[in-house]
Amino acid sequence: MDAAKAQAALKDIGQPAYRWDQVRKAVFDQAVSSYDMVAVLPAEVRKALGEKAPILSLTERRVDASPDGRAYKALLDLPDGGKVETVLLRPSPTRWTTCVSSQVGCAVGCTFCASGLMGLTRDLAPEEISDQVLFWRQYMKRMGLDGRLDNVVYMGMGEPFACYEQVAASLKTLIDQKLFGIGARHISVSTSGVAPRIDDFGRDFPQVNLAVSLHAATDELRSRLVPMNKAYPLAKLGEALKNYLTLTNRKLFFEYVLLKGENDRPQDAQALIAWLKGLGSLSLLHVNLIVFNQTDTPHRPTDESDARRFQERVMSAGFKVTVRQNLGRDIGGACGQLVVLEKAV
Ligand code: SAH
Ligand code: SF4
Repeated sequence: MDAAKAQAALKDIGQPAYRWDQVRKAVFDQAVSSYDMVAVLPAEVRKALGEKAPILSLTERRVDASPDGRAYKALLDLPDGGKVETVLLRPSPTRWTTCVSSQVGCAVGCTFCASGLMGLTRDLAPEEISDQVLFWRQYMKRMGLDGRLDNVVYMGMGEPFACYEQVAASLKTLIDQKLFGIGARHISVSTSGVAPRIDDFGRDFPQVNLAVSLHAATDELRSRLVPMNKAYPLAKLGEALKNYLTLTNRKLFFEYVLLKGENDRPQDAQALIAWLKGLGSLSLLHVNLIVFNQTDTPHRPTDESDARRFQERVMSAGFKVTVRQNLGRDIGGACGQLVVLEKAV
């Protein structure tokens, strides 16, 4: 929902100020999917809002659910015919998280990522980003899924810092106590390393978590895997991150997808350790090793024993290192698998 549009529509038809309170509570807290479900609103108000400020800017095309009920993937239609995918995950019985997309496709073109293979069609509008959370709140209500959706990660399709303005506006809506009311510390944004936007983000959203998709710690290898590195090589990225750490004093997360024989060797672990040490603030750094989810690319996942050895090497240098659980893999909704394939539509 575009809150400004809805408020303007109410004003246009001469409604008192308390009307907006009724509307926002129904939409964001009670997750109504139609204004007709809001009994306190007069009929003409429901009609005007329905015409001028629809609750959702996206419509459901389909939802796939994993058999264990812990992962759901939705394909959503945008008003201009574009499509995005978004994922709802239940990492623990009481916790729900959604993974939102920020663009249709992605221009960065990381060699292992399905979204990267698509190329970029367009950025999402702020409302199209935050409406993915609203969509899942409505879905949970409709399906009788217990609990509240209060965690959001910007790790779906797209590079959030390639459309910073839109992402910033969507973050403001999510954090706003009178709208979604999601705690800033319950939100994470993941970037492939757009250095100047890291500065902006640290200043604008010091409480929102930042994750950096590193995947390699030498320029030669990183430029090959994550082409963003050509624009912002490791030295530049490191400078931005040092400033970020000084400014925020917040934990900083690194993602590192392990690719067999490419970035999982002992020398890769050593390069990672050396580069991380250069950032200082060692106790704030947390590395998430990601098991490669098969995509239509020539990469292969690292063997479990090699992954463990890599983890132990980096841990023994004093860093926190976890291996990320891969919820959603069975429905193609895990990290890097989000792609709108024509055959799936
Ligand atoms: N564009 C942003 C956010 C979306 S991707 C970024 O790159 O950070 C979310 C995470 O999934 C990133 O760390 C990305 O590198 C990782 N990823 C991409 N493809 C993957 C794959 N096939 N298997 C596992 N992780 C992948
Ligand atoms: Fe884009 Fe992130 Fe995929 Fe790279 S990993 S292509 S930046 S979505």
